[in-house]
Amino acid sequence: MSVEKSHITIRIQVKGLVQGVGFRPFIYRIAHEHNLKGWVENRNDGVIINVNGTHDEVEQFINEIRSKAPVASNIHSVKSEKIDHEKFQEFKIVKSENTSEAITDISPDIAVCDACLEDLKKQAHRIDYPFINCTNCGPRFSIIKDLPYDRDKTTMDPFLMCDTCRKEYEDVLDRRFHAQPVACSTCGPEYELKIGDKSIQSFGQILKETCNLLENGKIVAIKGIGGFQIACDAQNEKAVNNLRNRKIREGKPFAVMFANAETLQEFVYLFPEEKKSVQSWRRPILIAQEKKKLAPGVSVGFNSIGAMLPYMPFHHLLFEKLNIPAIVLTSGNLSDEPIVINNDDAVKELTRIADAVLIYNREIYNRTDDSVVFSVNEKERLIRRSRGYSPEPVNLNQIVNGIFAAGAELVNCFCIGKGNQAILSQHIGDLKNLETLEFYEESYERFKKIFRAELSLVVHDMHPDYLSTRFAKDLNIEKIEVQHHHAHIASCMAEHDLDEKVIGVSMDGTGYGDDGHIWGGEFFICDLADYQRFNHFEYIPLPGGDQVTKEPWRTGISYLYKFYGKEFINIDLPFIKAIDRAKLNVIIQAIEKNINCPLSSSAGRLFDAVAAITNVCPVSKFHAEAPMRLESVANAGIDFGYPFDLGNVVSFESTIKAIVEDLLDGIDVAEISAKFHNTVINVIFALASQIRIETGINKVVLSGGTFQNKYILSRIEKILEKEGFEVYSQLKVPSNDGGIALGQLVIAAKLRKL
Ligand code: ZN
Ligand code: ZN
Ligand code: FE
Repeated sequence: MSVEKSHITIRIQVKGLVQGVGFRPFIYRIAHEHNLKGWVENRNDGVIINVNGTHDEVEQFINEIRSKAPVASNIHSVKSEKIDHEKFQEFKIVKSENTSEAITDISPDIAVCDACLEDLKKQAHRIDYPFINCTNCGPRFSIIKDLPYDRDKTTMDPFLMCDTCRKEYEDVLDRRFHAQPVACSTCGPEYELKIGDKSIQSFGQILKETCNLLENGKIVAIKGIGGFQIACDAQNEKAVNNLRNRKIREGKPFAVMFANAETLQEFVYLFPEEKKSVQSWRRPILIAQEKKKLAPGVSVGFNSIGAMLPYMPFHHLLFEKLNIPAIVLTSGNLSDEPIVINNDDAVKELTRIADAVLIYNREIYNRTDDSVVFSVNEKERLIRRSRGYSPEPVNLNQIVNGIFAAGAELVNCFCIGKGNQAILSQHIGDLKNLETLEFYEESYERFKKIFRAELSLVVHDMHPDYLSTRFAKDLNIEKIEVQHHHAHIASCMAEHDLDEKVIGVSMDGTGYGDDGHIWGGEFFICDLADYQRFNHFEYIPLPGGDQVTKEPWRTGISYLYKFYGKEFINIDLPFIKAIDRAKLNVIIQAIEKNINCPLSSSAGRLFDAVAAITNVCPVSKFHAEAPMRLESVANAGIDFGYPFDLGNVVSFESTIKAIVEDLLDGIDVAEISAKFHNTVINVIFALASQIRIETGINKVVLSGGTFQNKYILSRIEKILEKEGFEVYSQLKVPSNDGGIALGQLVIAAKLRKL
């Protein structure tokens, strides 16, 4: 029997995120290893491979497509079929005919891979070279200026490849075949450490000096992948406090980078899925439960740590030499401005915070903050979607082409629709200052250009004063406005391909309502096109308007006033006694005379009020601090709640009165907090059940910032599921306002069709 006869020809289709991640060279290499002939090509609907080989060879080849795929690829399906026998001379990569579709795929930045870490120790031209990368790892989105993704369209353009790198780049069997940022110590970018007027350029010296500074409690600004970061010893309280003081108005917990996975597990408890998240090639910051204490100033009283692992070659090289297990690594910015990405700005501005600035001479084009995730019910959830995640599209089952969704105001992300893909921008930030608005406008222009977006429709929040709304209104295309909480629910629906009537529960901080009031404790019966407000939390005046987010005590007073009248001032609570009488009277007058007292049904404000009344957090130093503190003190072992009243609205009169009684009885805040959380859970369950009875709808969609509360989300999901509801919560996109743009996008697509 001839060898040729035992050969079969198979056509394989691979779907998923397989473009811009070195997938075709990977296929080429494994085909070569298995002695298969044929070709691979990028098509609109994935990668197509035709191969010729023996049955066993082909079968093994197909298995390896899944088992050995490039780390940043995400294979949804591999389908193969036998086709008419064809004869091939060799295996080749067919140049993609359709370039229009290839442009939608830009890989997020990828943490340095294990093979490169090994090369760091043995490749002569890359010994300890801090910009090592390959087709499986390295910078992507942060350096890409335009598509197609070639070196001259990245910020690697000024670096001329040396002969050695060029050979690797051109050798299809090399791991660096067409790795656009390929570089080595002869031809690639270089670090430079600036300490005052001193400049250090030898990398060995830089490492030594950086270690020296950090080990001696100094603060160093370090250029990262997507922007500058500020580092100090995470076990040195003096250094941490210095950093906090120099970063004006910084009250948030700091993120921490640990030397390696083993060290990380000395300091935090990790569930298997958390381990997977924090070690993934995306290398996000994981909010994990603290096991061993760092400097108290790092976590500012929370029992969790925002933990991450090294992701740049530099981080690995640093920890090899550093006699410190963990460093604070926080965003390199002044208070609320976007993180600094440019060397000159860093030297000018960050020297106010840092004792030294570590720069390198490759430009960061697209700013990306570190992403932040947490895990609830064994699933990874996003809090901030940026480096390592953006601009990976969210695939939808509807066409959203040509739509621009402007997003909300806080933790803004915008979104561009391309075919059936939602391309969310990286985390832009709070659109409250000029610098952030400029970042927003610049990113909008870049996304439009890079993704070749022909925009014909813009969708924005109903809030007239959001800068994103104003920006949208100035665009000269058709406009649609969407209610904030409808967008939250739709965002979650989009993630789960839902296009039908659902029970929408939006528990959130704020959001402009149809009636001009501030919504945020909302129960909707809704689909993508429309919503009906079935019930909501009772309106409460917010004395001082926006000021209440920084001063939860105002909302606390407002709740007490509502349920007790003026007499509340005589209640014997430490919270009330601590407030200056004159100030108290001003607030009471403001409420009585309705001066700057917008009405709000917000869940976030209810949490604020309880955090204030219990004296857990009357004043807030950062966004959502009060609800976070209240959650962190809750005693997880208590499973009953307080009474509440369901009528035309959800009234918490009995709840607040019971909390006050408990406080007067000297009940521990840990118990009060747990009972309060349980009350909110019971309210959600009661209303979901009521809606199901009235409408027969069984799908519950949970979104809004309050669902970043682990206590609430973990329990409500389980309770609803136990009672037979189909429950949907956000996974790929944040349930806070960072996910709003996705919801806006799908609503606009739906309305456009109607
Ligand atoms: Zn690599
Ligand atoms: Zn080179
Ligand atoms: Fe919101």
